[in-house]
Amino acid sequence: MDRTLYSTEHDQFRSSVRDYLARDVLPNAEQYIEDKLIARDVWRGLGEQGVLGLEIPEEYGGGEAGDYRFNALAQEELAAVSMAFASSVGIDFDIVTPYIVDLASEAQKQQWLPRIASGEAVAAIGMTEPSVGSDLANLKSSAVRSGDDWILNGSKTFITNGYTCDVAVIAARTNPEQRSKGISLFVVDASLPGFERGRKLDKVGQPEADTAELFFDDVRLPADSLLGEVDRGFIAMMEKLPQERLGSAVTNVAHAKQILGETIEYARERKAFGQSIGSFQNTKFVLADLVTRIEVTQAYIDQAVAAHADGKLTAVDAAKAKYFSAEVQNAVLDSCVQVFGGYGYMREYRVARAWMDARVTRIWAGTNEIMKEIIGRSLDL
Ligand SMILES: Cc1cc2nc3c(=O)[nH]c(=O)nc-3n(C[C@H](O)[C@H](O)[C@H](O)COP(=O)(O)OP(=O)(O)OC[C@H]3O[C@@H](n4cnc5c(N)ncnc54)[C@H](O)[C@@H]3O)c2cc1C
Repeated sequence: MDRTLYSTEHDQFRSSVRDYLARDVLPNAEQYIEDKLIARDVWRGLGEQGVLGLEIPEEYGGGEAGDYRFNALAQEELAAVSMAFASSVGIDFDIVTPYIVDLASEAQKQQWLPRIASGEAVAAIGMTEPSVGSDLANLKSSAVRSGDDWILNGSKTFITNGYTCDVAVIAARTNPEQRSKGISLFVVDASLPGFERGRKLDKVGQPEADTAELFFDDVRLPADSLLGEVDRGFIAMMEKLPQERLGSAVTNVAHAKQILGETIEYARERKAFGQSIGSFQNTKFVLADLVTRIEVTQAYIDQAVAAHADGKLTAVDAAKAKYFSAEVQNAVLDSCVQVFGGYGYMREYRVARAWMDARVTRIWAGTNEIMKEIIGRSLDL
């Protein structure tokens, strides 16, 4: 079925991003995996392509598309390279940047937005802590007033771009008497004294995404590091999380769709018993099932992207998109591994890596159990 989400203007932007990724990024994919890092020149390249400035107003060096479809198609193209590209770059331009654009002081915007737009600065977000993930309202890192400044202490874990980030949005407790109403957000310069990084974490998949722990030891933050109002950080996160979950959903489907396409090619080529494996009825039925699942899921996600572009996406619908797309992606990739047979279990094959890369999509950006909790609450049971 033809997708109706995108116009010619979107398609032109897609072509330029796709050409850049094919020319400058895909040939080096093995190197990024080996280095466990996306090279800085890729960030700068994506800056030049206009991807990193999609959410940033022109006065700060961005292109401010003002149309979420551009964010979505950029994420689709990144996911076709790998989930790690989609997650690392997506966190930067689609998740962290809106917090700075919407909530930072003028001086902080001037300091960070032009550098994020150009790819000179990489951004991360730290919500999760060693003892707190789903139960975000219970986070322990603290920021305490010291004159006009704030003193930040505590730690974060599983932070995407954590090892290389130049700037991070950090959630910290500013009122120990409250739960969700005692949390604030700060924009934190990663070069400040007391901001320490742990090792790159050894993940099951997505090796080229750097994921790290962060430690804060009496980090002195200037007064204007506060994002928005004090003690209102939890509300800000709840307002921004639907976009994060929609971005996840977009990449989940795009990633599975890309690998499914590669699997169909393989089924045409690979021979067994003197015929292509795609000619066996079982393979045909499996692939027919997967193509259908992807297209039907895509239709929901496209509608969610259109709703978000119109400012109408609800938190519940974003949760449905994130939950369902992650389940479909994981099921599709598991079947793709099966179609590849033994080769599907070899790390050097993209299908094997994709399968490992995808496992986390049921866990991050709010686990699928938390997504069902959000959806369940809306049923007024
Ligand atoms: C590769 C990777 C990258 C990440 N990147 C970032 C990042 O950049 N920034 C960031 O802040 N975080 C990041 N995260 C953290 C991620 O968002 C958390 O791992 C996730 O929110 C789950 O939290 P947790 O790991 O503490 O699990 P827990 O909250 O301890 O959950 C454990 C299990 O209990 C279940 N559970 C918990 N509460 C409930 C409930 N109420 N009802 C039913 N089941 C429940 C969960 O669904 C899960 O199955 C990343 C994680 C990974 C693995």
